[in-house]
Amino acid sequence: MGMTTLEIVIFVVGSISFWTFVAFFGRLPAFKNTIIGRIQRLVFVHLPSFLHKLDVRLTNGRISNGGSRFGHYLMHEKHPLVVIFFLGLVTGSVALFVPVVWHHLPLKHKLLIPVLVPTPYIFTFLSATRNSESYITPENHAAQMRLYPYDRVLYYPGNTCSTCEFLKPARSKHCSICKTCVARMDHHCIWVNNCLGKGNYRWFLLLLFFTTVALAYGAYLAYMVISPLASLQYLRNEKWYRYRIKPGVDPNSWGTYLSMKLYYFMTFLSIYLEIGGLRASGVGLLALLTWPLPLGLLAYHIYLIWAGMTTNESSKWADWRDDMAEGVVYLGHRMEDTMGVNRQQAASSHHGNSSPSSKSNPTAVELPSEEEEPTTTWPLESRHILIRTTNGLPPRNLPSRIRSVAKEDSFEKVWNLGAVENTFDLGFWDNLVESFK
Ligand SMILES: [Zn+2]
Ligand SMILES: [Zn+2]
Repeated sequence: MGMTTLEIVIFVVGSISFWTFVAFFGRLPAFKNTIIGRIQRLVFVHLPSFLHKLDVRLTNGRISNGGSRFGHYLMHEKHPLVVIFFLGLVTGSVALFVPVVWHHLPLKHKLLIPVLVPTPYIFTFLSATRNSESYITPENHAAQMRLYPYDRVLYYPGNTCSTCEFLKPARSKHCSICKTCVARMDHHCIWVNNCLGKGNYRWFLLLLFFTTVALAYGAYLAYMVISPLASLQYLRNEKWYRYRIKPGVDPNSWGTYLSMKLYYFMTFLSIYLEIGGLRASGVGLLALLTWPLPLGLLAYHIYLIWAGMTTNESSKWADWRDDMAEGVVYLGHRMEDTMGVNRQQAASSHHGNSSPSSKSNPTAVELPSEEEEPTTTWPLESRHILIRTTNGLPPRNLPSRIRSVAKEDSFEKVWNLGAVENTFDLGFWDNLVESFK
């Protein structure tokens, strides 16, 4: 039995949705150990390297040289191809869909459509271009250093970016595609051809939100316009009666019930496509099947906001979790007088004294300088310090950078993340407000 038009449409639209999802979201830390992550690595890492080896053996690498240059361009250079693909898809879908359903729609929808249609363009544009607060420059570097404290769990003071040649502010990360350090780095997003950071994360959230709403709305409009016509046809259509239970099969079994339901659903869908055509039904179906992409990503970012972390930090936490499970992680408690406000008071009360710390304690070490670890405007400060050991034994002979803030005998082994405070988590609502600041 060959495939019907309906089955071909479902297969093609379903495949596009699935592979887009795997290609663009399979690399997220959240999918690291799931089937999605495994398929992504198999198809986009292992398969290309296998084909490359095959090509080297057969043609001395002639095919993959041209291909890999293009692949490198796609994956490692800044280019607008995915933005063009995304906005092209939006434009094409709107141009096909809206004119054929327009005269079926009540007034409120005729008012709502012009409000929703521009949102993907506006928020893609803002996500792609609002960089002044995200990109760290020598000019704004001092201000960036005062945004977030070093928590000594995910971020330590005193690390320099080898490309930008300045101290890395807490929560920042260098992006090799944008070729700059990015403040409060979330991830480099090829959908907007930019890094998402301090300056544009809010626009990205709104892009996700409105894309999710617009796709659901488009699918709903298609359903609303076609349903009254389709149900009539559905009842009249003789395909309805064609389903026959084969002899010897239990008509009351779950299998029979499910296959009958599936058959009815497919019949309904095929009538739907016949009546709505490619322009109304096809686009509506595409909207329905691609809807889980922005919805899933939106849900993931709401989870990140709830947890008080960025995508970048979620993978750092995951690394700690794995190492903790192995029993090689120790948590130390910071000495009170090494913490921000107190530290300043301590310094000012000792004003005029050349080396207060060495006088009171001969083994004490210098604290990081104000330039390395400035006082921040962030309301919380880390009370912990987390270190990995190579052998799981209690840490000995720690470097002065660590001994200066936590006593060696304060370190204890921890087995899970529950033992550690997240300094960047202010609670859901404050985290949400912080994302939009
Ligand atoms: Zn950098
Ligand atoms: Zn980037």
